[in-house]
Amino acid sequence: MSVLPDQHDRYAGSRAEFSRRQRTLARGVASAIRVTQRPVPLTFADGQGAYLHDVDGNEYVDYALAYGPMVLGHSPAPVLEAVHKQLAEAISYGASHRLERELSEAISRTVPCAELSVFSNSGSEAVHAAVRIARAATGRPRVIKFLGHFHGWLDPLAVGNPGRWDAGPATAGQDPLASSSVSVLPWNDLDALRGALTDDVAAVIMEPVAVNGGCFTADPGYLEEVRELTQQSGVVLVFDEVITGFRLSLGGAQERLGVVPDLTVLGKALGAGFPISAVCGRADVMDVVASGTVAHIGTYNANPVSASAAVASVTELERRAHEIYPQLEQAGSQLADILRDAAAEGGLPLVVNQVGAAGHAFCALEPVTSYADTVHSDPDAYHLFAEALLGEGMNVIPRGLLYVSTMHGPAELERTRSAVARAAAAVGPLLRSRQ
Ligand code: PMP
Repeated sequence: MSVLPDQHDRYAGSRAEFSRRQRTLARGVASAIRVTQRPVPLTFADGQGAYLHDVDGNEYVDYALAYGPMVLGHSPAPVLEAVHKQLAEAISYGASHRLERELSEAISRTVPCAELSVFSNSGSEAVHAAVRIARAATGRPRVIKFLGHFHGWLDPLAVGNPGRWDAGPATAGQDPLASSSVSVLPWNDLDALRGALTDDVAAVIMEPVAVNGGCFTADPGYLEEVRELTQQSGVVLVFDEVITGFRLSLGGAQERLGVVPDLTVLGKALGAGFPISAVCGRADVMDVVASGTVAHIGTYNANPVSASAAVASVTELERRAHEIYPQLEQAGSQLADILRDAAAEGGLPLVVNQVGAAGHAFCALEPVTSYADTVHSDPDAYHLFAEALLGEGMNVIPRGLLYVSTMHGPAELERTRSAVARAAAAVGPLLRSRQ
């Protein structure tokens, strides 16, 4: 139930759809995270540029961007053109076609570690492939991941996720044996890593900017030292750039931060909303696939439709990189400033962590600079704020993640400023009365 006043039920259509969906679609949503949207998970009807419309005809400036993929905004023309052209030719072959070469060449041109690539359909799958490659390349079983980092929904690495304070599973039904060779460590803690780098470790995997947990950056020198330690001990360093790839710069976080891993996982922005993901990396590590030691398979791998979207997306990002990345940088920092300032005007204390076109906001009175600091934040209050923002025509992820696209310009940001002030003024008193 919503605690905010009902706004003449501006969500009547979404409510009806949600309630009808629950009769045949388990939980009424196709991904469990979507059920967190209040007052009701919206049913959308179209997306163009920075805007979404729901089935009730409400318009939103969208800062969720499909959970990250839409760096070029919704329905970007070059991607649509490429997909339409491909659809006129074929949907899928289950065999080779020219676009998979074009895409692997585009990745090798843009992502610093990429000499060889393989393709999958989702980030979770590609993470799974990366870990398999690392195990085969080293002949070792153990994988180190970090508390509050997210690497998808598959059993082995869905432990110690954001929202947890231990190495426990993300959900019921996971096989405990699947993660029995996964160690979960605190991030930004070199002593913990040094202590855990035993001779059975195949891989260290991390989000190089910990966007999912709160958009945290590594301490100065940490990533460089991790690079050094993994190199010395023959451990494969994997950057999960499913969010940061093509978003924090053309070459992802590794280009932005100047630390090059052995393997990288790409997803989201790679396909501009179409399901496609990749593992790319150094040829000597990827050689386990090239030589046939690891069989990388999948009916839909690099299917022509998704591949056409990805080639168009990467080509567009590459062609306009000099203009796009400074623009994303500016939009990201302006959004963070607007949220902080306008929310404070409305009496709501917001902390906003932001790196380029990604961010994470918290209702908190003190800085939230590490995953441990998130205990000082109030997720329920932020959910309430997200609900109030929705009423003001702003779509944000209720957990706090924020994304901007190349289509978020001055008009959208100005509109956001007044919406944030009104939403904060509506929610601030409710929060004070709860205390
Ligand atoms: N890794 C990271 C860093 C992610 O943010 C996500 C998805 N949010 C995944 C992996 C999993 O990707 P997918 O949802 O496409 O399986």
